[in-house]
Amino acid sequence: MIENSSFWVVTDVDGTLMDHSYDLTPAKEAIKSLQELSVPIILCTSKTAAEVKVIRKELDLIDPYIVENGGAIYGESLTKVNGKIILGEKYEILNNILCSISSEINYNLQPLNNLTDKQATELTGLKGNSLTLMRDRHWSMPFLNPPELIEKDLNNCCQKYNVEIFRGNRMSHMLSINSNKGKAIKELKKYAKNPNVKIIGLGDSPNDLPLLINSDIKIVIPGTKGPNIKLIDKLKSYDFTIANEPNGYGWKSEINKLIIRLLNKK
Ligand SMILES: [Mg+2]
Repeated sequence: MIENSSFWVVTDVDGTLMDHSYDLTPAKEAIKSLQELSVPIILCTSKTAAEVKVIRKELDLIDPYIVENGGAIYGESLTKVNGKIILGEKYEILNNILCSISSEINYNLQPLNNLTDKQATELTGLKGNSLTLMRDRHWSMPFLNPPELIEKDLNNCCQKYNVEIFRGNRMSHMLSINSNKGKAIKELKKYAKNPNVKIIGLGDSPNDLPLLINSDIKIVIPGTKGPNIKLIDKLKSYDFTIANEPNGYGWKSEINKLIIRLLNKK
């Protein structure tokens, strides 16, 4: 129960809980151990609710989950709000904003949902029904990473439209300024009336910055080529740990260390 737990594990999914071939195996055992200790595991991802439902089922998770980079929080246990808390702006509105910004900066920003199946598979590795689940998006706008040299113009434009852009390893995400992973964590704490819960946050890329900043224990999960330099740079002034191994293996080893700490406290 999120209401009376002293700790929540809040974790990104892609590149953090699993590698880019979508393998959840390394993390599974550590997830079981957390469940035995009744520590809620809150997935906090850029994925859609439709995609997360599949992962929750595979991992047997019951806790609320943050989707679309903080655009919405869902969960059967969120009974006071009919199972959902919406923080983001509607996809259609974000799509219009992306079009307006494209014409203002004179660069055609490409929504992920407009790619052909073949292009989407090349970018994400997803195929078939997984592509349908990925496109079931309502509260955020992922688009192809633009060239870095137009980023300054892009970010200046965002202020006018009350949106923010987070650049991920494989794509960028445009979000309403009222929604990001950190804001979703704050909202969930408020909902649970559990302001003092300690958040153990795990992430791998700059879109996890709000997640990590809002976590009491900040864990960066590296990829096979090491940690994301942009994320590390932005975390400079904070205390954080970098896992020793990439993706799910790093997740597992950091969570296991934490479990030992938790057990010693009991
Ligand atoms: Mg990630």
